[in-house]
Amino acid sequence: MESLKELYKIGRGPSSSHTIGPERAAKIMMHRYREADFFKVELLGSLAFTGRGHRTDYVLTKTFQVPCQIIFNESLDSLKHPNTLKIHAYKQNSLIGSLTFYSIGGGSLEIEGEPKKQVADIYHEKNMKEIVSWCKKNNANFADYVFEKEEDIKEYLKKVYTSMNHTIDKGLSKDGFLPGKLHIQRKAKDLYNSIDKETKENDLKLIASYVLATAEQNASGGIVVTAPTCGASGVLPAILRYSQEKYHFSDEKIIEALAVAGVFGNVVKHNASISGAECGCQAELGTACVMGATALSHLFEYSLDQIEYAGEMALEHHLGLTCDPIDGMVQIPCIERNVVIALRVFNIVELAKLFTNSRKISFDMVVETMKETGKDLNYKYRETSEGGLARLKDQIDNK
Ligand code: SF4
Repeated sequence: MESLKELYKIGRGPSSSHTIGPERAAKIMMHRYREADFFKVELLGSLAFTGRGHRTDYVLTKTFQVPCQIIFNESLDSLKHPNTLKIHAYKQNSLIGSLTFYSIGGGSLEIEGEPKKQVADIYHEKNMKEIVSWCKKNNANFADYVFEKEEDIKEYLKKVYTSMNHTIDKGLSKDGFLPGKLHIQRKAKDLYNSIDKETKENDLKLIASYVLATAEQNASGGIVVTAPTCGASGVLPAILRYSQEKYHFSDEKIIEALAVAGVFGNVVKHNASISGAECGCQAELGTACVMGATALSHLFEYSLDQIEYAGEMALEHHLGLTCDPIDGMVQIPCIERNVVIALRVFNIVELAKLFTNSRKISFDMVVETMKETGKDLNYKYRETSEGGLARLKDQIDNK
């Protein structure tokens, strides 16, 4: 498995596969074809169906430093990956090169005809079973495992946590409406200001306002950390910030929790998918729930088995969750769903402790099941805005 730097990416929302991935693809083309004076981009699959709502065209136009043409091709015929971009480079009207990119989720890319891994594998263990076995053999916890395998990761994770907090602070300071036709008013600031700061009794409001702050920043194209994606970026930062404030965990402990969440997110990414276009929202917010639950379990000093149990439960109970954003915007159901799932993390972590020793299903088994379930999901429920809640587009009261 790759570095956690490939999982936690700091970039512009609202969708890692629709904004960060295509932005990276455009940069690769510009680098390889420096002499190009024009680019033509064909967006296929989910990128064509929801590219406008996810602002793929905006990001590409902004990234290319020369004129470009964007074509939305909604044909699904012989598509090898649900998020495909074909980019052609021209010089003086002559084609000088083309590449086909697959935006595989979380801002990561594969290039057709080129080796899959662009970076070296750092974690040689292939699944949670092997990771747990390494930890038991070395009398280590999941954070020790990460720091042993990836020595320079602590500094990067500090940067990640700083960025997460910065996004929350920014989101809590903003008024007004989110971009797009749905005319959604930002809620984070008002909710946060309604909390009685003396007693700080209303934990639900506090957690929800932190989640909303990030999710609203993401929806408006702000900078977020993929955890594991932009669309699901609200959960983990809120869990960490709230827990640190409430229980006074040190920054060092929070960095450990980020490492633990990263290991679990990485296993899902490599053995199934973190892409809504590939496997639905179970892959995005289901994985965000896993990352939140395992991070919190580590903060509470759970055992390896209890942490794995929390992660397994977090994914198991989101199996089949569809991706059906209305009007292709990462707003409904995405923003509220981040809040609901962050709140659910606390119950899952409690239950993992109560049910210790009764677990029958492993984390790896549920990851495999998620992948299979994703394959069975009709394309309408995989980030195409063709089914589910997206059908309600014309019935939304957007005044
Ligand atoms: S429904 Fe879930 S997977 Fe789909 S865009 Fe929204 S957050 Fe991402």
